[in-house]
Amino acid sequence: MPDLKLAEKPEGYEGQGFFATRLDHVIGLARANSIWPLPFATSCCGIEFMATMGTNYDLARFGMERLSFSPRQADLLMVMGTVAKKMGPVLKQVYEQMAEPRWVLAVGACASSGGIFDTYSVLQGIDKVIPVDVYVPGCPPRPEQIIDGILQIQELVKNESLRRRHTPEYQELLASYNIH
Ligand code: SF4
Repeated sequence: MPDLKLAEKPEGYEGQGFFATRLDHVIGLARANSIWPLPFATSCCGIEFMATMGTNYDLARFGMERLSFSPRQADLLMVMGTVAKKMGPVLKQVYEQMAEPRWVLAVGACASSGGIFDTYSVLQGIDKVIPVDVYVPGCPPRPEQIIDGILQIQELVKNESLRRRHTPEYQELLASYNIH
């Protein structure tokens, strides 16, 4: 049998023939290991993502081989590349079309802060238009760094309370982006 690494089981009680744990632990475990990413790739960082999907790095190890190009069937928006100000409303629309719970990974300097393009036409970070959960530094980030960002997203997903999306703090965060 191949040496398979299984996802760690959550905390709980076990005895002969039974295992009991909390529902939110099980949901977190399932969500974290079956993320469907939507790649929003506009330039060079997207090429690094293609390498990340390839056999050397193999994103499928994390339960992510199913990329979604439909926002309604995606729960992780990965923004990779320079985003022009004109693209800002498009990016926001894609985010708004995703169902909750949804997460956002800003890959590379351009998506995180505008990168080297400190100009009138480039959005100085996608967090000007949508909330971001994890930022990956680098220009471009290597596939290892993208994978590190994904592992951090998995940690957030695994540990997120089921009530978070209904809290006033989260509603306030969305309202600050004029998203309702
Ligand atoms: S961060 Fe660098 S590599 Fe990535 S899109 Fe911007 S210029 Fe290209």
